[in-house]
Amino acid sequence: QQDPRLAGIAASIRVIPDFPKAGIMFQDITTLLLDVKAFRDTIDLFVDRYKDKGISVVAGIEARGFIFGPPIALAIGAKFVPLRKPKKLPGEVISEEYSLEYGTDKIEMHVGAVEAGERALIVDDLIATGGTLNAAIRLLERVGVEVYECACLMELPELKGRERLGDKPLFVLVQSS
Ligand code: AMP
Repeated sequence: QQDPRLAGIAASIRVIPDFPKAGIMFQDITTLLLDVKAFRDTIDLFVDRYKDKGISVVAGIEARGFIFGPPIALAIGAKFVPLRKPKKLPGEVISEEYSLEYGTDKIEMHVGAVEAGERALIVDDLIATGGTLNAAIRLLERVGVEVYECACLMELPELKGRERLGDKPLFVLVQSS
């Protein structure tokens, strides 16, 4: 039996075809943010799942992981750690590379933001190929952090991103074609 809140969440996400380029069906979560009930239900569903799990770190992926990660972190009593695109963080960083359709990209984290032995939840708005989340997992595991799970609002199952996460669990609220 599906949670009745999920239909409202799915309906509040706008799809914009051919953005940022032809052939991409862009899942626009800014319309979810305009819908107070859908935004609150989204955060509540994650908080119910992750409270009391011993999670001390919520790691949010730039940029939309910065919208959903912090309210979850505050509600479960965890710190928030931004995983950023290159050259954005001012302090010393460690980074992990991942492949894009053309070329590569990187995500970075401040040295000292997390300690070995901590338990983390990784948050982003959407998993497509899984490359970004795969890099985030590697980044945290390199410094001895246990990644409890990855959490996204939305999954594009056709791209099989889940398979790139190995045995790491992925929890999503909504699947889209
Ligand atoms: P990937 O690394 O391929 O799993 O891509 C995931 C990242 O790209 C996330 O940070 C998403 O916000 C963004 N992204 C990829 N595809 C889409 C899409 N169709 N609509 C919105 N965001 C997307």
